[in-house]
Parts: sequence; structure tokens; C-alpha cells
Amino acid sequence: MSDANVVWHTGSVDPGKRWEITGGPGCTIWMTGLSASGKSTIAVGVEQALVEQGRASYLLDGDNLRHGINSDLGFLPSDRKENVRRVGEVALLLADAGLCAVAPLISPYREDRAAVIARHAAMGVSFLEVFVDTPIAECERRDPKGLYAKARRGEISDFTGISAPYEVPDRPDLRIDTMVTSVESAVAEILDLVEAIPK
Ligand code: ADP
Repeated sequence: MSDANVVWHTGSVDPGKRWEITGGPGCTIWMTGLSASGKSTIAVGVEQALVEQGRASYLLDGDNLRHGINSDLGFLPSDRKENVRRVGEVALLLADAGLCAVAPLISPYREDRAAVIARHAAMGVSFLEVFVDTPIAECERRDPKGLYAKARRGEISDFTGISAPYEVPDRPDLRIDTMVTSVESAVAEILDLVEAIPK
């Protein structure tokens, strides 16, 4: 709830000055897709490559944030909405500060992702939606954390792709088919998009 008595107070630091420190303008790189599609693996590579290039970057892994800022949230649609909203707001702050915020998050609902995109647009902060597109059969075969097996046994409820929906992005900035794209190539494709952000 916003309060009419809470007034925006503008800072005086020029964005260009910030970018001298952070190595360039900030952005949010949002990676959406099924569990085990490869979001975190690619995101780790993107953060590493950006830092090696002298760009301030920070990984906002959806699972990691569920240990802290989102530790009170579960996986019902309302909780997922709030999870996505909070990570979106944290990413927005980092990106506005000049960092490349890398956010691998299942974020299954189109409407929730659209709200994050709209917040970035309203603040004039660059946003890249990356769809990590891996067929569910392959995700289930990889199952690095054994979660699909648990979901199939009914030990996890509301599991995306099994007992909860995943809404495919309509027009992502980039679609990565991990059946044919290596982690290294995916990282390179994302870096090209970041490089193309106007300074
Ligand atoms: P998510 O973050 O989407 O849940 P993870 O990155 O944790 O997925 O797990 C994806 C798994 O798939 C990892 O074990 C990774 O090594 C494997 N993998 C195989 N091929 C690829 C690829 N081309 N891109 C990304 N991950 C891949």
C-alpha cells in the first residue's frame, strides 16, 4: 500500500558517475524457466563473465533468496507472486545502482513477470527477459536436486510443470534452447545483449 504522505526524495548522484564505478549502466537479467532448465547454471556463468569484464554484477538466485528475504513464502500462486515481486524490486534497486542483477527464478506466471517488467520500465531501468527453454522431460531427466522425483511421488505439492502451471513468455528478449545451446554459448548470447544496452 502506498501512502500519499510518503514522498519520493531524489538523490543528486549523476548516473554516469555511478557507471564509472560499476563499469557500465545497470540492468536486470531475468531468467525464467522450469526447475532444472538451467537458469542457475547459466546465471552463475553470466555473473562470473560480467565481473571478469569489470562490470559490477550480482546473482539473485531465487532459491538462495528463499533462505532470507523470502523465507516466509511458499509456492502457492499468491506466495509466488510476492516472491517474484520482491526479487523484482531488489533487482530493480541493484540495477538502478548500476549493477547487472542476474535473477534466475522459475517465475511461472506471465502476469507476475509483466509486473516486474512494468516496474523497470517506469523507473527507466533496462530489463532483459531470458527464457531458458528446456522440455520438461529433459528437466526431469536431469533432476539435479531430485525434486521431480519427489514431486512425482507426491512429496512436493504445487511443483511447476507437474502440479502447477508454467506460462511460457510471449516475447522474451532471448530464448535459450538448452538442448542445442551449451552453457558457454548461452552466457555469450546474454553478454551480447548486455553489451548492446545503450550507455
Ligand atoms: P534451474 O536453476 O533452472 O533449476 P539448474 O541450473 O540448477 O537449473 O540445473 C540445470 C542442470 O542442467 C545442471 O545440472 C546443468 O549442469 C545441466 N545442464 C545440462 N546442459 C545444460 C545447458 N545447456 N544449459 C544449462 N544447464 C545445463
